Amino acid sequence: MQNKVALIRCWTYDEEKVYLAVKESIALIGGLGIFVKPGMRVLVKPNLLAAVAPERAVTTHPSVVKAVIRLIKEEKGVPFLGDCHGGVLTGTGVLLAETKMTETGAEIVSLEKLGSDLYGGIAVSKGIKEFDLIINVCKFKTHGLTILTGAVKNSFGLVPGLHKASLHRLYPKVDDFCEMLLRVSEIVKPALSILDGIIGMEGDGPLSGDPKSIGVILAAEDPLSLDFVMAKIAGLDPLVLPVLSAAVKKGFKPEEVKVLGEPLEKFILGDFKTPYTFAGAGVVKKIGFLGKIKTFLQPYLWKLATLKPVINNLKCQKCNECVRACPVQAIIYKKGFPKVNSKSCIECYCCHELCRYRAVAFKKNILVKIWIKRQNPKK
Ligand code: SF4
Ligand code: SF4
Repeated sequence: MQNKVALIRCWTYDEEKVYLAVKESIALIGGLGIFVKPGMRVLVKPNLLAAVAPERAVTTHPSVVKAVIRLIKEEKGVPFLGDCHGGVLTGTGVLLAETKMTETGAEIVSLEKLGSDLYGGIAVSKGIKEFDLIINVCKFKTHGLTILTGAVKNSFGLVPGLHKASLHRLYPKVDDFCEMLLRVSEIVKPALSILDGIIGMEGDGPLSGDPKSIGVILAAEDPLSLDFVMAKIAGLDPLVLPVLSAAVKKGFKPEEVKVLGEPLEKFILGDFKTPYTFAGAGVVKKIGFLGKIKTFLQPYLWKLATLKPVINNLKCQKCNECVRACPVQAIIYKKGFPKVNSKSCIECYCCHELCRYRAVAFKKNILVKIWIKRQNPKK
């Protein structure tokens, strides 16, 4: 697989300008014609995490999806649009209407309804076999568990609804979960990934963060190489991302990633806000080192550093999405509001990921506060 990543500047969602930027990015890695042949059925897989307006930067912007669909048609391919979205309560119709995906020019397929096949214990939508090609149209965002979410994690969207929760239950440790994400990405095998980083998300993503103007479109054959460049743009050491560190253990070679188009240095952000859980991960890493010396202390410190979700009753709309999504039933109603049972919580952050009312936050603790202070003395 090619490890070239094309980088194109684009500051606007003006449809024509986005079309030209997406076209140019794909041209840099060989042009769509090397992937799409006349008559091919092509599945376009955006990030459709939740039924919210595109302005919140939670989902791939419809202008980017439309550009990809237009380009597929120019190659005389037949485009389809589909995803298995994370929420269990929002219907597909509402999701597509809210995210403005109803008029993209592609036939919409309900991938949930097609059922799934098992690949070594991982359920993936049968939809992946219905198409000749999959194009991953992902979003530049932060994520509580994986720190950033881009091309690799977008394929996890093709694991149908409640199977996602069972995979969280099966792989409660973040490193194991990220290894599983790599396997899903290999199973889905998108031919091409396009990243919408025109307005991405910083802070406590993937749903509750803040839109951030980044001004970039990325295109790559290899989702890992694309995520590597995305991390660089965010100003992070890519290997702090558990997906990329798991990939390196499996043979991914960051030094072989080749950036095409505009120079990467022009895009690197100095002020990108990582999720609050990133600080927790930093403390946990440090404790991992300490633990080698003082093993008896490790479990206590670990417990102190790991961030537990907490529900803000003032913001909670009692929609039940978090209760239904929690893989270990750690959220139950108490005194009329959902409440997290910290003892059974496995810190998968699905509740945080799926609460579109931003009612799930993280319990601040002293170790993490000290860590943040040390990292950012001015705060
Ligand atoms: S915390 Fe969020 S997801 Fe859970 S019930 Fe309240 S509003 Fe719904
Ligand atoms: S309470 Fe939230 S973070 Fe904890 S296991 Fe349930 S969904 Fe995951």
